[in-house]
Amino acid sequence: MQKKEKSFGIQMLSVQPDTKPKGCAGCNRKIKDRYLLKALDKYWHEDCLKCACCDCRLGEVGSTLYTKANLILCRRDYLRLFGVTGNCAACSKLIPAFEMVMRAKENVYHLDCFACQLCNQRFCVGDKFFLKNNMILCQTDYEEGLMKEGYAPQVR
Ligand SMILES: [Zn+2]
Ligand SMILES: [Zn+2]
Ligand SMILES: [Zn+2]
Ligand SMILES: [Zn+2]
Repeated sequence: MQKKEKSFGIQMLSVQPDTKPKGCAGCNRKIKDRYLLKALDKYWHEDCLKCACCDCRLGEVGSTLYTKANLILCRRDYLRLFGVTGNCAACSKLIPAFEMVMRAKENVYHLDCFACQLCNQRFCVGDKFFLKNNMILCQTDYEEGLMKEGYAPQVR
């Protein structure tokens, strides 16, 4: 099951001169600027609402931020850390975006799942592998398959 992304809108408010200054959730200082940001039911300096990963100012990037595990993240980092690459073509489970994957054509595989689906041989960098009927095959099994096909009696 894929969970829905959690995203929060960012509001930009102008500070009313007659209300007492709000504390910034980022630096804990009072906000005396003309504008402040409101996100996650807290108030922030424009400079203090930043992505925990890349430090980009979220008030500028767009109007949404993402939170997970007490981190405030921009969309790009959120997807990089918590998004998914896709389903593994071998075991059909989801692959989280931060995991290393093997790719063959449009298919993605867990590193652990990337092996010949007939003899389970794993591949090293530089090894040849073949993709046939959406199955990963080692060279031996691929060539064996070709031979069998080649020698199969022609049905008329
Ligand atoms: Zn601040
Ligand atoms: Zn970021
Ligand atoms: Zn897999
Ligand atoms: Zn094999």
